[in-house]
Parts: sequence; structure tokens; C-alpha cells
Amino acid sequence: MKVLKAYRFKLKPTPEAEALLYRMAGCGRLAYNKSLEIMLDIVRKELAFEGDRKSLYKALNDLAPKERIALAKRLPSAAGLNKQLTQWKKAPELIFLKEAYTDNLQQRQRDLRDKAIKDWCSGKRGFPVFRTKRIAHHSTMRFVNFPKYCALDQRRIKLPNKLGWVRMYQSRVIDGEPRNATVSLDACGNWHVAIMCAVDVKPTRVPDQGAVGVDMGIAKNMTLSDGTTFSGVRSFAASKDQLAASQRKLKHKERGSANWKKQKRKIARIHQRIADIRRDYQHKATTTICNNHAMVAVEDLRVANMSKSARGTVTQPGRNVRQKSGLNRSILDQGWYEIRRQLAYKMAWTGGLFVAVPPHHTSQTCPACFYKSADNRKTQASFLCTHCGYAENADVVGAINVLHRGLDLLEASNQSDLIRAGRRP
Ligand SMILES: [Zn+2]
Repeated sequence: MKVLKAYRFKLKPTPEAEALLYRMAGCGRLAYNKSLEIMLDIVRKELAFEGDRKSLYKALNDLAPKERIALAKRLPSAAGLNKQLTQWKKAPELIFLKEAYTDNLQQRQRDLRDKAIKDWCSGKRGFPVFRTKRIAHHSTMRFVNFPKYCALDQRRIKLPNKLGWVRMYQSRVIDGEPRNATVSLDACGNWHVAIMCAVDVKPTRVPDQGAVGVDMGIAKNMTLSDGTTFSGVRSFAASKDQLAASQRKLKHKERGSANWKKQKRKIARIHQRIADIRRDYQHKATTTICNNHAMVAVEDLRVANMSKSARGTVTQPGRNVRQKSGLNRSILDQGWYEIRRQLAYKMAWTGGLFVAVPPHHTSQTCPACFYKSADNRKTQASFLCTHCGYAENADVVGAINVLHRGLDLLEASNQSDLIRAGRRP
């Protein structure tokens, strides 16, 4: 079985290559933004909308899924946008696009049409917004068809469009055949490359032991059905004060001044450090779990929905907004979504199984006699079955129930389907 595995390294471009990367990223954003402008014009006409852009976005994001899908059908396809590109290059003010790497420009248009618009249709995200230089990840570029345009050689990567060989801080040996490379900029101004490789793995059979359920929580980041806990890092909580102080300092500096820019970089570095600590913890925890188990079951929590719901809509403003946004911040800080994603792809790498189970009542069902009642959960921390007297830590009970459901699902469905479910990196 082939699975995709990503390697991410920091790049060490020469000043010339770096300048070219910035220019290419700029052209990519331009292609994206011009395509988005076309789409906004169309939706404005379709909706016969008169207001300003801000209220147009509000109207677009208030549309029901069905209306979104119908409206998206009116928008040009990625291929249609690609054709427009040829016209733009002829315009005198856009003449520099001729120098840009066409594949990259077309890819940005596909990102908009085939990813951002689709995500909006499915309700995953709001209507796409314009890409700006100020937001580092808006400068992302993907180079597809690796074997044709790119190459690897001793801590160097060959990139297309006159970029040539770029050195990288290669910290690991690259396994498998490279399929594509994504170059991105971080907030501290460093360029990175993520190389996606197809790796062969041998699927293993699930032994009786070696299956584990995971309960994701706030107090403890993860509790396993065997009682192991991962307490997590509250990286955001710990650095919050420092971040707030730095942001206050920024307010007192003149916008755009040298000192302001310096402070901005300082803030970016704090953010980066928070992200690094979190990433390090997440990778260590998920690697430990995946190396020691042949099957991992987690709750299907739909984190995106949970962290969105607090805001509510205009007609129905969210209740408990403050409490919920506190909880949401904890959820995001704990990185449940990222941990689930890592568990899924790491299980696929090791040929194991990853199962996401429906989350209902996992905290209220007795794992010994299956009696389900809210009374079983006396407090946040302890579980006591009112039917059979089974007592256990509430998080462990949650994890055991998740495991039971995972095993049920496994029995009920085709094993290969489940492998596929965990396959997408
Ligand atoms: Zn019981």
C-alpha cells in the first residue's frame, strides 16, 4: 500500500533566489486576487447585490449550503480562469506576469476554484478573501509534477523557473518517491519546503491487544483507554502574558516605523515559538501512540464546527459567547484537530488502522454493563455506574467507550475502507 508522507525543511536561498521567490509569490497572489475579483463581480450580479464588499461577504456567508452550491455553478471553472491568464499577460500593466512561472499561477487559480470555493460550498470555511503580502501563508506556492521539474541532491532541491538548486537544512533522510513540493513563507521571513513523497508501507493485521481508544480533553490533552495520559502543553496560556505585553508595546509605536517593524518581528517570533513547542509536543505524543498500537480509535469531534458555533448568526446570536470562546481557545490550543490528523496519517504510515467514531454519550455509558445515563457521570472527573457500581476516572471511561465503538465499527465494515479513512495525510 502506498501512503503519502511529507518532509518539511527550512530553505537557505541565495539573495537572488529569495528575491525571485518573493516575486513569484507576489504574482501568485495577483493571479488569485484577480480571479477572486471576477468571482465577486459575478456573485454580485447573480444576487443583485448593492451594498459594499463587507456586507457582500456577510450575505455570502449567510447563504444556506444549497444556495452556495447553486451560486458556485455560476462561477468560471479553474480551466476557464487559466484561459483568462493568457489575456492578462497581454495587458501592459501586467507584463511582468510573462516572467512568472505559469504553473504556479494556474495552481493558485485552482486553489481558489477547486479548494477555497468548494470549502465555502461545504460550509467548512467562509467565502475566500483576498491574499495579502502581510499574511505569510498567503505566499505559499506548490510545484506539482516533481519528477519533471524538480530534483533532490545532497541537501539541495532543484526548483523550476530559474530558481535552480536551492540549499535546505535537511534534517532527515527522504524516503519514497517525491510527488510535489510546496514552498511557503513563515511570519519570521523564513522560506520552507514541504516535499510530499509516496512511501510503500506493509499493512499489519490488528492484534487483539494493541488497539487503543483516545479521549481528547481540556484538563488532560489525551487519555488512553489503558489509563495513559498526555497532559499537553498550554503553550498559548504560558506565553499569553508575554504576547499581550508585546502587543501593547506595538500600539505605542508609530505604524510602519523601524521600531514598529522590530516589535512586529518580536511578536512573530513569540507566535513561532508557541507553534514550535506545540508542534514538538504533538509529534512526540502521536508518534508514541502510533508506534505502540496497531489500531487507534478517536472521537469524531468536528472541531471546526465547535470552534465556530460560539459566534452564532445575526438572527440567533451565540449564547455563552465568552465561555465558549474560552473553551474554543483551549480546544485550538490543545490542537485536537492537528492531533487527529497526525494520528490518522502516522497510523497509515505504519500500516495500522485509524478509526473515527461517533462521539455521542461516550462519557455517560458504562463500559462494564453498557448502562447509559447522565447520572453515571457524577462529576467532571469521576464515573460511577448507577446500575452496576463500576467506578473509574471519567476520561478513561470515555477512552474505553471510544475503543469499544472503534472495534464495533471495525467488525461491521470492510477493513480496507478504514485504512483508506486514515490514509489522507
Ligand atoms: Zn455499569
